[in-house]
Amino acid sequence: MPDNATAQVIINIPTRKIDKPFSYVIPAHLSAITIGWRVLVPFGNRRVEGFVVGLEIESTQGLKPILEALDNYPWFDNNMLATAKWLSEYYLCSLAEAMRLFIPGQSGIKIQKSYQTPAELDWEHAAILLSKKPAEYRTILTYIYEHGPVTLNNLTKLSSQINPIIKFFLQHKLIITANSINKRGQAASLTVINLAVSREVAADTEKALPKNNTAQRRLLQALLHTQELTTVELRRLAIAPNTVKKMADQGLVTVRNVPVFRNSYAGLNRQAANLSLTAEQLQVLQELIPAIRNERYSSFLLHGVTGSGKTQVYIQAVAEARRLNKQAIVLVPEIALTSQIIARFQAAFDNDIVVIHSKLSVGERYDAWRRLQTGQAGIVIGARSALFAPVNQLGLIIIDEEHEFTYKQEEAPRYHAREVALARAKFAAATVILGSATPSIETYFQALQGRHKLLSMKKRVDDAPMPSVTVVDMRQELAQGRRSVISLPLQDMLTETLAKKEQAIILLNRRGYSTFVLCRECGHVLTCRHCDISLVYHAPSKILRCHYCQEKQAVPDVCPECGSRYIKYFGTGTQKVEEALKGLFPLAKIIRMDQDTTSRKMAHAKILSAFAAGSYDILLGTQMVAKGHDISNVTAVGIISADTALNLPDFRAAEKTFALLTQAAGRAGRGSKTGRVVMQTYNPEHYAIIAGAEHNYSKFYQNEIGFRQQLCYPPYTSLIKITVQSDNELTVHRQASQLAAELTQKLSIADTAIIGPFPASVNKIKDIFRVNILIKTQNLAAITKEIYSMNIVSRNNVIVDIDPVNVL
Ligand code: ADP
Ligand code: ZN
Ligand code: ZN
Repeated sequence: MPDNATAQVIINIPTRKIDKPFSYVIPAHLSAITIGWRVLVPFGNRRVEGFVVGLEIESTQGLKPILEALDNYPWFDNNMLATAKWLSEYYLCSLAEAMRLFIPGQSGIKIQKSYQTPAELDWEHAAILLSKKPAEYRTILTYIYEHGPVTLNNLTKLSSQINPIIKFFLQHKLIITANSINKRGQAASLTVINLAVSREVAADTEKALPKNNTAQRRLLQALLHTQELTTVELRRLAIAPNTVKKMADQGLVTVRNVPVFRNSYAGLNRQAANLSLTAEQLQVLQELIPAIRNERYSSFLLHGVTGSGKTQVYIQAVAEARRLNKQAIVLVPEIALTSQIIARFQAAFDNDIVVIHSKLSVGERYDAWRRLQTGQAGIVIGARSALFAPVNQLGLIIIDEEHEFTYKQEEAPRYHAREVALARAKFAAATVILGSATPSIETYFQALQGRHKLLSMKKRVDDAPMPSVTVVDMRQELAQGRRSVISLPLQDMLTETLAKKEQAIILLNRRGYSTFVLCRECGHVLTCRHCDISLVYHAPSKILRCHYCQEKQAVPDVCPECGSRYIKYFGTGTQKVEEALKGLFPLAKIIRMDQDTTSRKMAHAKILSAFAAGSYDILLGTQMVAKGHDISNVTAVGIISADTALNLPDFRAAEKTFALLTQAAGRAGRGSKTGRVVMQTYNPEHYAIIAGAEHNYSKFYQNEIGFRQQLCYPPYTSLIKITVQSDNELTVHRQASQLAAELTQKLSIADTAIIGPFPASVNKIKDIFRVNILIKTQNLAAITKEIYSMNIVSRNNVIVDIDPVNVL
C-alpha cells in the first residue's frame, strides 16, 4: 500500500489509561484537515470525537479513515494546543483530559442510544410473535425498520407504553441497539422568510388572491410591510409552515436558515463608564499599557486596597488590548457574586463581551465561544473555565481576586487557573494582570522575587478613608456576663447605623442554624455514618443533614452513645444570628444570604441588588456577603466570628482568615460616608486578626512568610498530595503504606520529603475511606516526572493533586 496522509488523533475519552495519539487516514474529501481540527473517528466498535495533534505521510496499512470533521476550521490554535500539552504535563493528566477543557460541554458530540432492526430480521417469524400482541407492536416495529436507527425519545412519541414493547423486541432479537451520534452545540438557527419577487409583483399577487385565502394574504402584506419575517413573527401572525412552503414552491418567497447567537446575559443593568482616572490608576496604567503594546509575555501583580478602583484599571487595560485588535480573557472567582464587575464591563464594551458561567447550556456556551473564535466578540469574562475560550488573538489575561481558591479545580484535571493563565500567556506572548487587595502569599512572594512586576494602589478612590475597625474580645464579653452572639459594640454600631438610615452587613463564617449536635453528658457529636463528619442541624425542617452526601436524619431524642436525654444544638448559624438581630432590632429589615437561600439561579445577584436598592437594612450571610460588591450606603460591617477558620489544621488558615477579614471590612464606607467595622474574636492577639484590623497587608505577609519558611511550606516548597481511596478501611491503609514506601524508595531527589500516610481530615466520604500522602519538594518538575514514570496516576484508586489548595 502506498504512503499517504495520516492524522495523529487524541481520542476524547477522559481516561489516563490511553494517553497517546492514534493514526487515521485522512480521506480525500477531508483533505482540508490540519492540526487542531476536531474529527469523528472509529475507535474499537465505537465512533468517538478526536483531536488532530499531528500530520504525517506514512503507510496507511491497517489504518482506518477519519469519518467526519466536526467543524470547518481548526478548533485549537497553537497556543491552545501548547497550553493543553503544558497542563497535561504539569498536572499529570492525559492530553485528552486537558484538551477537552477547551470544548464546550467537554465534547463536541453526544452519543444517543437508539434502536434499529437487524439486517437478517426474519419477518415471518416476527409476524408469528406479534400475532399475539396488540396491533401497536407491529406499527412500531415497522416504524423502526423504516426510520432506524431511532432514539427512545422518538419512540416515546409513538406509544405511552413503549418500554415493555422495546423490551419484548430486544428479547426476541427483533431489534438491536445502536449508538447514534449527534453533533452538539451547533449554533441555533432561525428561519427567515423574504420576498422572492419584486414588491410590485407581490402586491399584484396579493390583490389577485381568492377572498378566503387569508393566510397567504397576511404573509404577503407582512412582507410588503417589513421585508423580512422570522418564525417567531409567523407564529404571531398565525401563519402555518405549510402556507409558507406553498408560497415558496410558487416562487413567491424564499426561506433560509441563518444562525443566531443567544445572548443569555442580555438585560443586566448597565453602569456608567468613563470616569476620570485617579493618580494611582494612571500611574499603574503607565506601566501596563506599554507592556500590552509590546506584545511580549509579561505578568503583573496589581495589589490595590479594597475600593482603590481596580476594575477601572482592568477596563482601561482591556480597552488598550482591543485598540490593538487583541482579545482579552477576564477571570472572576465566582460569576454569581460578581454581577457588578460584569455590569461595568458591559457598560464599557457592550456587545464586544461574552459572559461565560456554569449555568449556560452547551449550546449557549458554544455560541459564546464561536463569537470569540470568529472575532465577533473580543472579550470573555467568566469563572475559571473561561480561560479555555478559543480566543486566537489573545493579548491580555486578567485574574481578579487572584487569591481566591475557586480558581483551583477540585476535580480532575486539578489545575489552578492562575498557573494555566501564566502558561497560556507565555505561549501567546500576552500580558497577565493578577489583581487583589489580599494577594496570595505565593503570588506576592513571586512578585518580590521579580517573577511578576508589582504595582500597588494604596488609596481608595477620592481619598476615602479605610474603615475604622474595633476588635471585640469575646472572652471579655463573656466575663461581663454577655452571652449573646451580638456583642455590645456591634449592637451599638448597628443601632447608630440604622438610626442614620444607613446599611450594615453581618458576616458569619458558617452555615445552617447550629453547626452540630452534641451530648452534654458524654460529649458525643452526631456524625454522618457515611462521611465521618458532624451532621448539621437545619432549623426550619428540624432535621440533621450531612453537607457532603446530603443524607438527612431526624434528631434523636436520646444520645445514641449513652442514652442521655441532654442532647443539645451547638454552634452559631446564620438563622440563629438572624433571630438574635430580630430580637434586638424588631423594626429592621433583614435579608439572609447563605447557601440555603441562594441555590437558585442568580439568587445571589437578586438578593444583592435588592439590598443595594435599599430594600433592606441589614444583609446577613456567610462568606459570600464579603466579596466583590460595591454599595455606597453600606457603612457598617460586623464580623461575628472572625477566627472560626484559624483553628483548622490547615497551613493556609491564617491567610484565608486575613483575606476574609480584609475583604469583609472592605465592603464598608465605599461611598462618601466613612465605614466602621466590628470584628468579634476569641483570638485578638493573632497576627491575622491584628493585621486585618489595621488593613496592613505587609505586616501580615511578614509574619506569615516567616512561618512558611520555618515549616517548609509553599512558596518555599511545592506540594503534591496523593490520596488513596477504598471502601475498605484496612485496604486503604495498607495500599497507602505500600505507596509511601514505593515513593520513598524511588524519589531519592534532593530537598524532597514524604509526609504520611495520614487519614484525610474527613477520612470517609460517601463510604469511601481516604488516606493522604503529602510530598514537599523544591524540585517539582523532577518529582512529577518520577511520579509519572511510576504509573501512579493511572491507578483508579489514587488521586494526584499538584499544588493542592486543600491539604487536609
Ligand atoms: P476595587 O475593585 O479596587 O475594590 P472598584 O473597582 O470596585 O474597587 O472601585 C471602587 C469604587 O470607585 C467604584 O464605585 C468605582 O465605580 C469607583 N471608581 C473607580 N475609579 C474611579 C475614578 N477614577 N473616579 C471616580 N470613581 C471611581
Ligand atoms: Zn451521650
Ligand atoms: Zn454523609
